[in-house]
Amino acid sequence: MTRKFYITTPIYYVNARPHIGHAYTTIACDTIARRQRLLGADTFFLTGTDEHGQKIERAAQAADKTPQQYADEISAEFRNLWKRMGISNDDFIRTTEERHIKRVQELFRRIRDNGYIYKGTYTGQYCVSDELYVDGAQPGDPCPTCGRITETVHEENYFFKLSAFQDKLLELYANPDFIRPETRRNEVISFVRSGLRDLSISRSTFSWGIPVPDDPKHVIYVWLDALANYLTAIGYGASHAGAQAAFKKYWPADVHMIGKEIVRFHCVYWPAFLLAAGLPLPKAIVAHGWLLFEESKMSKSRGNIVRTETILDVLGADALRYFLLREVVFGQDGSFSFDALVQRYNSDLANGLGNLASRTLTMINRYFKGEVPYPSPSASKLPGDEAIAETARKTIREFGVLFDQFHFSRALETAWGSWRRSTNTSSRTSHGRSAKNKTTQAGRGWPPCSTPQRRLYALRPRWRIRSCPMQRPKSGSRWDSATSRSLLSPISHGGSCRWAPNSATSTRFSRAPTRARSKGCNRWRISKEVRQWKNRKSRRHRPPALLPP
Ligand SMILES: [Zn+2]
Repeated sequence: MTRKFYITTPIYYVNARPHIGHAYTTIACDTIARRQRLLGADTFFLTGTDEHGQKIERAAQAADKTPQQYADEISAEFRNLWKRMGISNDDFIRTTEERHIKRVQELFRRIRDNGYIYKGTYTGQYCVSDELYVDGAQPGDPCPTCGRITETVHEENYFFKLSAFQDKLLELYANPDFIRPETRRNEVISFVRSGLRDLSISRSTFSWGIPVPDDPKHVIYVWLDALANYLTAIGYGASHAGAQAAFKKYWPADVHMIGKEIVRFHCVYWPAFLLAAGLPLPKAIVAHGWLLFEESKMSKSRGNIVRTETILDVLGADALRYFLLREVVFGQDGSFSFDALVQRYNSDLANGLGNLASRTLTMINRYFKGEVPYPSPSASKLPGDEAIAETARKTIREFGVLFDQFHFSRALETAWGSWRRSTNTSSRTSHGRSAKNKTTQAGRGWPPCSTPQRRLYALRPRWRIRSCPMQRPKSGSRWDSATSRSLLSPISHGGSCRWAPNSATSTRFSRAPTRARSKGCNRWRISKEVRQWKNRKSRRHRPPALLPP
């Protein structure tokens, strides 16, 4: 039977437009989902939007819209962005959908029937921004999570017997794979050890939510509503057989990916709800850190929120994907800056991978009529072939181990390191030239060098001494050497290269290239390369005749 793999992002709250932090979580999940599909797993990748709650009701009011209109607009922005970024989610759930509403009510009934829900009165502080009851706070106290002033609520509510699950949860945390990374696990353990109080799971002071079954004066607490999406999207509580079969196949989730600010909801409340409903628990909850902007937290008031769209306009989705996974140590806070993005792009993608790809494609086009030829079976191996093959095998193994432990940055470092080593090896054996000589004589086929893989490695990626402004290929244009050149060329900070400062984006964005230019980093590096190349040329090498200008 095919192995299944079910991964989720948190569903994003529609109180604000998507920014790069949302993209970061989604990219990480997408990368994992794609890898699992390649490994042959029957993969289900879920994302969506969380659309209920007092905060949405108020935001809609302020914008002079109905909550549904408001949610529709923002939810569409998320969907469009994921589409544009090529995110491979299998479903997108919205908590205002009929399927979700019915199934959440079913979950509520089940927990109530199992004896874990009772009616009581809640008097205390509530943070509307986090949709969180703040235990022990006095009127006027700030929320410990976000710092906003809490509101006093006094209402008759339904309560969930969270206190009944303290020991069971602690038992669950004994499994080191359940909460990752370790630091988050320790935080959760100490929170639960300090004692759990029953949790209010309904509100009656506003109406934008899912009505409690048989008591529509109350709406279900937004976190119970939202967390349940992981079940409802794959068919929990559905009446038709197809959805039931899907639920049976995919639940429990293999990975819930979350940001560190929602660890408590996912690692304490969520497993407790599932235990109360008698449902299996997810296998792992993985929390990443925050993405900061130049070391400080992104926020509307600071005006430093980075929008993904502008980066997509200039660099494309793959560059952003690579940058975020390579630059940020997953699980820790990471800092985003445009300088770092440009630098990574130039060094790793344009000069590293880009050169290798460009040269390889050019040679295949020029000497092999655009097709990768098979090596002759009689071709003898050259010294060093086996070492390169072994390096490749070792890299693949190491990459897999690191990736599966969510060490994306180190996994990518390993892959790039191996390319660097391989290209160094091939530089020493000077195969670029021998390819030209032998193939022009023989007309076709690889020179007596063992494998195409070997040949790809053996290509000598010299620095392209070229600083052309970024050009975007026309959509649908072929991948040929011209396209690859324009796609993979280093970004020049001067000239006509501009970060398209479109009106909707952060004002800081447009300043980044100016700073980079003033440092002259790119120009310095290029002139250094020119020097190196000239020195080499004068000593023993011919100019790179094989290579594109
Ligand atoms: Zn708060």
